[in-house]
Amino acid sequence: MALNDDCLFCKIIKGDIPALKVWEDAHALAFLDINPLARGHTLVIPRDHVAGVHELTPDQAGALGRAVTEVTARVQKALGAPASSIGINNGEDAGQEVPHVHVHVVPRASGDGVGPFHALFQGHAPDVGKDELAKIQAQIRDA
Ligand code: AMP
Ligand code: ZN
Repeated sequence: MALNDDCLFCKIIKGDIPALKVWEDAHALAFLDINPLARGHTLVIPRDHVAGVHELTPDQAGALGRAVTEVTARVQKALGAPASSIGINNGEDAGQEVPHVHVHVVPRASGDGVGPFHALFQGHAPDVGKDELAKIQAQIRDA
C-alpha cells in the first residue's frame, strides 16, 4: 500500500491517529467524520494515498465504488435514514481539505432542509445555451 507520511488519512490508515472505524476491507476504510454534517456522516477512503478521483487506477476506483455501496447500505440501515447525499470535494478549488480521496456519505431525511446537490450552485450556475452545450460535449469527448 502506498502511503504518504504527511497525510492525515494515511496516518489513520496506519493507526497513528485514532478514528472511529465502521467498516474496512483490503482496499478501503470507512470511519466517522469528526465534524459530522449529520448523524452517521461517514468518510470512505482508499487504502492507497491518491489525492484526486481522476488519479485512481481502475482497480482502485472499482474497490472504492464497491466500498461506498457497502458503507452506504450500512449507514442508512444503522441510522434509519431513507436516503443519503454522497459527495467528493475533488481538488482544493472544490473545497478538498485533505488531499487523500474521500467519499462523504451523509444520511438524509425528508425535511432536513438541506436540499439537493444543485443547491450548492444556486445563484452561481452559468447560463449555457444549446450551441455552447454542444461545444462542451465535443471538448470533453475529445479530451
Ligand atoms: P473535505 O473538505 O472534503 O476534504 O473533507 C475533509 C473531512 O475530513 C471534513 O469533513 C472533516 O470534518 C474530516 N476530518 C478531518 N480530520 C478528521 C479526523 N481526524 N477524523 C475524521 N474526520 C476528519
Ligand atoms: Zn493519504
